[in-house]
Amino acid sequence: MAGSGINITVNSLDYIDKLDRLSGLSERASGFERYHARRGPVRVPLPTGFITNGPFLRPWSRDLEPMTSEPEAITISVDAGRTAQRRPPWIKVRAPGTSPAYTETRELLRGLELNTVCEEAACPNIGECWSRKHATLMILGSVCTRKCGFCNVKTGRPDRVDPDEPDRVADAVRRLALKHVVITSVDRDDLEDGGAGQFVACTEAIRAKSPETTIEVLTPDFLRKPGAALLVAAARPDVYNHNLETVPRLYPRARRGADYRASLDLLTAAKAAEPVIFTKSGIMLGLGEEHDEVLAVLDDMRAADVDFVTIGQYLRPTQKHLPMSRYAPPQEFEEWAEIARAKGFLMVASSPLTRSSYHADRDFEKLLAARRELALGSA
Ligand code: SF4
Repeated sequence: MAGSGINITVNSLDYIDKLDRLSGLSERASGFERYHARRGPVRVPLPTGFITNGPFLRPWSRDLEPMTSEPEAITISVDAGRTAQRRPPWIKVRAPGTSPAYTETRELLRGLELNTVCEEAACPNIGECWSRKHATLMILGSVCTRKCGFCNVKTGRPDRVDPDEPDRVADAVRRLALKHVVITSVDRDDLEDGGAGQFVACTEAIRAKSPETTIEVLTPDFLRKPGAALLVAAARPDVYNHNLETVPRLYPRARRGADYRASLDLLTAAKAAEPVIFTKSGIMLGLGEEHDEVLAVLDDMRAADVDFVTIGQYLRPTQKHLPMSRYAPPQEFEEWAEIARAKGFLMVASSPLTRSSYHADRDFEKLLAARRELALGSA
């Protein structure tokens, strides 16, 4: 691939969402679509060190074989027949790759051969988070055994389980000097324990190398893996997170293969088994949910004794993913935060760019403070 180029057809939404954020290309952004409409495909040289398989190109190149070297350029055509939906101003994010800390984080994780959900899921917050050396590690490989309609992680035949991974995860946590770490994984329906043992091994390895670091696990639903969630909870992570993602009506399209009730049961069981653990869950707006359905999900979470709810905007990773029904305005997120607080959550994070692990370190401190305050109030 060295010295060559690759061809990509985008619509203007793809363009605005992804290309606009490319380091070194952003100046070219304005007028790009108008230019294309007149002149056709354009060959754009890539900046040195451009992450070919990273979060920016991946949504476009997921069907391509993984590349072993950087292409020299991408040739971009705009498919004018597709609907354009410009991102509203409140979705704008910081461009990645502009700070030394971002590069350091990337190099360190590459060197340790670790995956992150930040890259695999094409998270819009990566520029900000990695510049603070806050990355969410994704264990058990980069290939998921499910195929959720909203998710950008690759699906297919999963990778072998790497027995050295927990050690490398613990190394990353120590070298990044993380006060709080979030560990997640792909779904591993193929494994007898769903990957629970690897979560436990990572938790123990981190504790051994960084005893002060607080640990948050964001697990799959461990459907038909009896005892798996309890195994993870018994290792006593500080936070046990499992996302409901959306309202139950949309599960057949958005979370095929998952079971809303089973996800709630997992959260209930984790809390009941280890009440000291904070439990956390999240949903996205913009998948077609109705107001009353969101209210019902919040009630269900509270009935499952969930402490912390996150509410964020769904952003369609590519044209192959579920369409986005709407952009909810920031005001609406604030209203949901108020509603959730009134329902008794100890902590609520609700904003267009909220993700499960966004600001998880700061939020953990707030969670602790909220619990202390509650204890004082009831003393
Ligand atoms: S919000 Fe979470 S997944 Fe996204 S970049 Fe930050 S740490 Fe990574």
